[in-house]
Amino acid sequence: MSYVYDFDHAHPRAPMELKDLLGGKGANLAEMTSVLGLPVPHGFTISTDACRGYMSTGWPAELDTELAEHLTRLEERMGRRLGDPDDPLLVSVRSGAKFSMPGMMDTVLNLGLNDRSVEGLAKQTSDERFAFDSYRRFVQMYGRIVLGVPGDELDGPLEALKERTGASDAELPAAALQGLVEELKSVVERATGSPFPQEPVDQLRGAIEAVFASWNGARAVAYRLREHIPNDLGTAVNVQAMVFGNRDEKSGTGVGFTRDPATGAKGAYGDFLINAQGEDVVAGIRNTEPLSALGSRFPSIYEELMEIFSRLEAHYRDMCDTEFTIEQGKLWMLQTRVGKRTGRAALRMAVDMVDDPAIALTHAEALQRTTADHIEAVLHPQFADNSSPVLAKGLAASPGAAVGTVCFTADDAAAAAANGEHVILVRNETSPEDVHGMLAAEGILTARGGLVSHAAVVARGWGKPAVVGAEALRISASDKLFRVGDTVVREGDVISIDGSEGTVVVGAVPLIAAEAPPELTKLLSWADEVRSGRLGVRANADTGDDAANARHLGAEGIGLCRTEHMFFGDDRLPIMRRMILASTADEETAALEELRAAQKADFLGILEAMDGLPVIVRGLDPPLHEFLPDVESLLVKQAKEGLTDDEKKLLEAAMSWREANPMIGVRGVRLGVLKPGLYAMQVRALMEAAYERAEAGGHPIVEIMIPLTVSREEMALARSWVVQALQDAAPSKDKGGDNKTAERIEVAIGTMIETPRAALLADQIAEVADFFSFGTNDLTQMTFGFSRDDVEGRMMSAYLSQGLLSANPFENVDVAGVGELVRIAVERGRAARPGLKIGVCGEHGGDPFSIDFFARAGLDYVSCSPFRVPVARLAAAHAVLAIDAEKAKQASA
Ligand code: PEP
Ligand code: MG
Repeated sequence: MSYVYDFDHAHPRAPMELKDLLGGKGANLAEMTSVLGLPVPHGFTISTDACRGYMSTGWPAELDTELAEHLTRLEERMGRRLGDPDDPLLVSVRSGAKFSMPGMMDTVLNLGLNDRSVEGLAKQTSDERFAFDSYRRFVQMYGRIVLGVPGDELDGPLEALKERTGASDAELPAAALQGLVEELKSVVERATGSPFPQEPVDQLRGAIEAVFASWNGARAVAYRLREHIPNDLGTAVNVQAMVFGNRDEKSGTGVGFTRDPATGAKGAYGDFLINAQGEDVVAGIRNTEPLSALGSRFPSIYEELMEIFSRLEAHYRDMCDTEFTIEQGKLWMLQTRVGKRTGRAALRMAVDMVDDPAIALTHAEALQRTTADHIEAVLHPQFADNSSPVLAKGLAASPGAAVGTVCFTADDAAAAAANGEHVILVRNETSPEDVHGMLAAEGILTARGGLVSHAAVVARGWGKPAVVGAEALRISASDKLFRVGDTVVREGDVISIDGSEGTVVVGAVPLIAAEAPPELTKLLSWADEVRSGRLGVRANADTGDDAANARHLGAEGIGLCRTEHMFFGDDRLPIMRRMILASTADEETAALEELRAAQKADFLGILEAMDGLPVIVRGLDPPLHEFLPDVESLLVKQAKEGLTDDEKKLLEAAMSWREANPMIGVRGVRLGVLKPGLYAMQVRALMEAAYERAEAGGHPIVEIMIPLTVSREEMALARSWVVQALQDAAPSKDKGGDNKTAERIEVAIGTMIETPRAALLADQIAEVADFFSFGTNDLTQMTFGFSRDDVEGRMMSAYLSQGLLSANPFENVDVAGVGELVRIAVERGRAARPGLKIGVCGEHGGDPFSIDFFARAGLDYVSCSPFRVPVARLAAAHAVLAIDAEKAKQASA
């Protein structure tokens, strides 16, 4: 097996496509060298195969021989030898994985210098100062990066020297630098117990091994986990002849982008430094000059660089970022890659590059370049920078950033907000009793709960930033403070949260506003063209305002209206409680009547906002514990000060409805079975609203959905209530109504598929259901047997870090398990009822990874919270494009 490839190796394919083998950096160095013929210093790449070999069985035996061969060839080409005491070759060693990865070993420069070759370098360049400055840089870098000596121990001697002499870096004379090298070598020897390695081949092997080992460093592993990068890819290593930007005033180094990576504006963008090495630009030690100034300093080099930039853009058909060095008036390209960019820049470039004749992206390509992160970045406020220390991390539950004073109860939050304060509501977890405080808050922070906890779902629904399950928080609501380690944050203190990152910061982090750029509208219209007729996007919305917002953001209907959410408000919660706790038929009828009146008004708003588009209204599915009074606090009150008569009744009823496992207790249709008038009442409210809309000239399209069914019999029973209620609600002539109105309104009756049993018996259920919608939150809970409210905070991170799960199944649908149930239900459901319309309305409906799966499973639409609709439109287009590309590939094979 070959482990090492020269940059100009004749690969059977374009090297830029060989990132698996050569890593990103190596692939692009080879592309620039062998395909584009750009001025790149010679070098070679040690492949990811070598790294994988190293990880499984240690340093590959053949690697030494291959390295020696390639090194000899490099020496011949450069006319210099590594470690030569007269005229030494120096090399850089850089890591380069397939995906660029912060947290890995980065770069060692000037490798090959030792006590003898430094003299050779001094002779060759006639510059002793330069030679010893290069050596001291090498000892510092190698000591820190390869030998693991703490950076401040290695920085100390230089700082002390400058202070002693009052000289700047550039003014230090050769003799002082020579002394500094000796000092640094003893720092290394003290820290490592061995002298600084003098043998260049040992130095090289040490650096290569350090790159290999950094693949499994803690920071690299954490980064891969977050970015879903597989752990077994390994990294490549690039060894390249050094060129020096710090030789003299005709030398320099810089980084350049072919367009502005922050805004996407056309035209080169970057920084450079005269007489400096690359690390000086990155470290920000000296103030850089803008790239445009290169034009006046070195006009012909600037021209050459601009010419290279336009060739790179045309070749990669994308914005590139580059590192370059000028050595005594000659330009060298050290690196290029497709450049990272902000969301705003990404959208602008994608659209601009469609019209750019040198690039001419297709609409499909422009869409493929756009990611969910880009869209989220432009739609939500964000931290202006990420320099503030993070106090605690939780789950990134609802994107966007928020700043405010801390409040520990919903009442306090609502009161503070009413006084014009910006508030962050901090709770262990939230329940419907907190909703007024959540609504008033700028952002929500909880110590417990997962991505489908009450706090997360509600916050996402409103597009309100939320961080949930920040387990490091120790909240003492009675003392009105929380602690994280030694830090105490009290009521009224200001904190900032970033719900896109899951971070909590003490103090006010400046935010930058989000304004949807025109490019987003254009890209999403292209996305709609692609997915039209293939995968629809609806929204989960519970109010007219949310529905209107969802439509504005491109939703093509409502996929889920959770009617129990209509009872979150302070004034409405008691109605729901009266209904649940009613002990006589009269009490129940009265409570149902109140429910009907309240709901009709809500339905009117939603149907109006979604006029002409389908609206799925789900029968009540209240997990009872979310709506019952808190038994514990009533018991405490009873013991301390006694209860009022009303409270006694409430306690008694609450005790009798109390459940050990409320999420698998009397939920969904089960409550309907125990309270047979319930769904009938809801249908009446809905249809009254629909008739009113139709009378007013609207075009309501109503779909009624039964939650949590497990059998045909159950669904048939629920269907019979709905059918009866539809008949009862129809405006008959003798009631002064118009039967034509009733006929004009289309009503479908369907069910959610949220239990494994329902999925397995989908054929039977489809006999009595007009449509299906997967409730993947519950389906995930019940398939894994993971409590959706508990497991994410407590065990998910352990499961992820130990590789027991590759992703949180409440976030990315579990394709192997839950996904199999989805496939089965689709197949069996449609076998029984051809053309059965099927969607998904669990939280996964807004997740790009899951959307890809749902498209492949043959679903008709996904439904998600309004704020995720733009992302879902893009992800749906991505899924369609990917499926079509795979089909085309299969057909041509
Ligand atoms: C689901 O279970 O996926 C669903 C949409 O219903 P809910 O989250 O309201 O239980
Ligand atoms: Mg559910």
